[in-house]
Amino acid sequence: MTIARVLVVGGGLAGMATAIGMRHGSSGAVSVDVAEVSYEPNGTAMGMFHRAADALRELGVYEELAEINAEAYASYMRLYGPDGGALPGSFAGPAAADGPDTVIGLVVYRPDLARVLGNAAEKAGARLLPVGLTVAGLANTPSGVDVAFTDGSRQRYDLVVGADGIRSFVRRQVFGDRYQPRFAGELSVRWVMESEGIDLAPGIHIAPSGTFLHTRPKTGMGYINCTFPAPEKKTLDRDRARAHLEGVFAGFAHPAVAGLRGRLGPDSDVVCKAFESVWIDEPWYRDRVVVIGDAAHATSAHLGSGGAMALEDGVVLAAELTGTGPVEERLDRFYRRRRDRAELVVRTSLRLLELESAGQWAGPEGARLTNEALGRLIQPY
Ligand SMILES: Cc1cc2nc3c(=O)[nH]c(=O)nc-3n(C[C@H](O)[C@H](O)[C@H](O)COP(=O)(O)OP(=O)(O)OC[C@H]3O[C@@H](n4cnc5c(N)ncnc54)[C@H](O)[C@@H]3O)c2cc1C
Repeated sequence: MTIARVLVVGGGLAGMATAIGMRHGSSGAVSVDVAEVSYEPNGTAMGMFHRAADALRELGVYEELAEINAEAYASYMRLYGPDGGALPGSFAGPAAADGPDTVIGLVVYRPDLARVLGNAAEKAGARLLPVGLTVAGLANTPSGVDVAFTDGSRQRYDLVVGADGIRSFVRRQVFGDRYQPRFAGELSVRWVMESEGIDLAPGIHIAPSGTFLHTRPKTGMGYINCTFPAPEKKTLDRDRARAHLEGVFAGFAHPAVAGLRGRLGPDSDVVCKAFESVWIDEPWYRDRVVVIGDAAHATSAHLGSGGAMALEDGVVLAAELTGTGPVEERLDRFYRRRRDRAELVVRTSLRLLELESAGQWAGPEGARLTNEALGRLIQPY
């Protein structure tokens, strides 16, 4: 049966990738509506690694993002000590199988990524529904989905894609309460700041006081992500998050880190978030609803890969859905193409989190797990 009308719930990475991919792959024949509750992404940064660059190219947005910033290759995985000296070992992973020149990493400012993907979806002819208008209920059947919207209207779609993130409403409608986000045991404090005059290498900086990742999402902008164990899912307010960063920076002798410390102030853009995980341990679809991205498989950022997986999900789903064969077979092909890769990211990230919490992240097991995972993730999706 032909899929003519699709509703994508959630306009994040997974949702926009699906919408753009479906419009391109069907040459505009499939109508795609996107429901979103807020297009304001948090103002932090994100590494788009492994094959995310391929997915961005397939969506036609790679060049635009690379122009905003290209931090090529996995430099973010180099390790540095408290005085800024390079530590032995690297978590850079192997080169791409199809050529050492394949760019495997971009670091993007999330609002830039959201804007570029949103514009591309509109240009491709996806219909972005008014912000806040979304699904209130679903009647899922083997031949289509009757959707009740929050404004009381109703529509029938051939397929609904739940790309609505870790707290997915669509997942709950389809799978009930079986899959709930689970606190993974660590918090993350992230800070976006002006990087002018800060001479600090992009990479992972390690001292007895703590570990932080430093990257540059665009010219003049620096990004710090500092993860640490916490007994319960209780995020820090801005002042306490800032105090945490100050404490970590205090353990570094590197003058650039002292410079960072001096820049931290009450107005600094510091946010704290708990890492949570979800894994749908069965096919991610039922009848005519499929759940993708963080809604199906969310994890901590210890491989920096959840966003890449979400993008890849959208691209692969669109490719399968615009192919041939019965819808259920196409959904099954999508699931089989994605399951192992997503599970690798979920499980490896959580194990790396455990190692970090035990102070062993930079040890041999962490290096082995990271390099094995990167070796697999660099293979085409
Ligand atoms: C601290 C931290 C750092 C990270 N760093 C990285 C990184 O460096 N690299 C990387 O690849 N990944 C990273 N990730 C993971 C990455 O952020 C997620 O995996 C990615 O955002 C998932 O994309 P998604 O589209 O599935 O979900 P989301 O990005 O969560 O998008 C879901 C969208 O659905 C919308 N929505 C929610 N409910 C509804 C509803 N009822 N109706 C309509 N819309 C709805 C939301 O507003 C949102 O826009 C990090 C995560 C954390 C917590």
